Amino acid sequence: MNESTLLTQFNDLGLAEPLLRAVSAEGYTTPTPIQAQVIPAMLAQSDIVGIAQTGTGKTASFVLPLLNDLADSNKRPEPKRAGALILVPTRELAAQVADSIRTYARFARVSTALVIGGAKPGPQIRALARGVDILIATPGRLEDHMSTGAVRLDRTTTIVLDEADQMLDLGFMPAIRRILAKLPAGRRTVLMSATMPAPIRALAADFLDSPAEIAVAPAAKPIDAIDQSVIHVQRQAKQRALVDLLRGAGVERTIVFTRTKRGADRVAAHLDRAGLAAAAIHGNKSQGQRERALAAFKKGRVNILVATDIAARGIDIDDVSHVINYELPNVPEAYVHRIGRTARAGKSGTAVSLCDGDERSLLRDIERLIGRSLIHTGEPGAPSTKSSRNGSKRNQQHRSKPRRHPAAAGGKPGPKRRTRRQSPEGTEPQRTPRQRSKPGRKRRIPAAAADAGLHRMLGA
Ligand code: AMP
Repeated sequence: MNESTLLTQFNDLGLAEPLLRAVSAEGYTTPTPIQAQVIPAMLAQSDIVGIAQTGTGKTASFVLPLLNDLADSNKRPEPKRAGALILVPTRELAAQVADSIRTYARFARVSTALVIGGAKPGPQIRALARGVDILIATPGRLEDHMSTGAVRLDRTTTIVLDEADQMLDLGFMPAIRRILAKLPAGRRTVLMSATMPAPIRALAADFLDSPAEIAVAPAAKPIDAIDQSVIHVQRQAKQRALVDLLRGAGVERTIVFTRTKRGADRVAAHLDRAGLAAAAIHGNKSQGQRERALAAFKKGRVNILVATDIAARGIDIDDVSHVINYELPNVPEAYVHRIGRTARAGKSGTAVSLCDGDERSLLRDIERLIGRSLIHTGEPGAPSTKSSRNGSKRNQQHRSKPRRHPAAAGGKPGPKRRTRRQSPEGTEPQRTPRQRSKPGRKRRIPAAAADAGLHRMLGA
């Protein structure tokens, strides 16, 4: 069966229409593995332990269900109360989560407040006075406001602990335990963490009720048989660069990836004008058109297939010599999928990515995910050089500059990309542990099956 028919679609998840519209306006075609699993579990009111790193789409996985709750209910928050609480380790992450909420709620209604250290408390107190649907907070400042009565958590129905392991590193665990103990017993608790050190496991055992365990691994490293390189090129020069690449020596059967369906059509039309026969497949093509395009590519009647990520999921064709990322994917895991279309069945393959100025942060996310820098080749058409897992001399020479915080990198304006280590919030956490476990809520969390989602996605 075609793999793409098995993929969950956003429409299948039971989300309200304004949220589906927002997701589609963001250009998301399919839920990421963490979203496909966390969204239904949250909608079913389950507690959740999610093992996922930044870059897996985890923010939308808990924000969308929270917004869905609001779409389903007319209830407004009471003064000094928060309907849902998202606890984060740093003010930067708080701001990014708030931005994500704005993005996904662009066709919906939600009130939010940010309670973070290092900012004036006055405006925070005023925002809390009215009551908010979703409160995003760092633990120290939240406790300050709780102690003065500026906010109470007795009506909070969901708490999300985002990047719990980082909160642990920053010494927030006692504060988190105190905060959790103030929430009503029947609440829904979602714990997101990139890793599961013992204190986080203990926290989950003490405060979560039969949680669903959902784990997605960072993508496996791309196979060594693939030569991977990147060409930095201006957006308007991409079409020419692509034609040059496709005319280069050794380029036989190639899949060209674009981010959007329209982009795929534009690229295919341009190649056609340049005298390079190409077939395009994407979600707007009928099943018949897609099958014909694939058959032409498989049989070698055309040697270039232009595809979007989702359309390419089911493709399993040997002898693809090159994958060209005409545009970098929004989610770094998609890069691994894309390049996995080459070097199949024990063959070698080449993957070249065209990266324009706006895509630098996407490139950094990919490099972070695959654990190495891609070799930069300056001239389109120049043969790529094999990259080495451990960093050959050549690789070292071409290594990207040290990574900065993506938000500071001048890439996509964007809330949602971030590095894992950020400065702690201004307020020091208090350190008097007053561990309270709930009777009848203790559960042992078995070891997580770390790679469930991505290995399935990789389909390798
Ligand atoms: P996160 O792991 O929440 O930091 O998200 C990583 C990035 O993936 C963000 O830039 C999101 O905008 C993007 N993203 C989240 N979900 C999807 C999706 N289903 N399809 C494409 N991009 C997504």
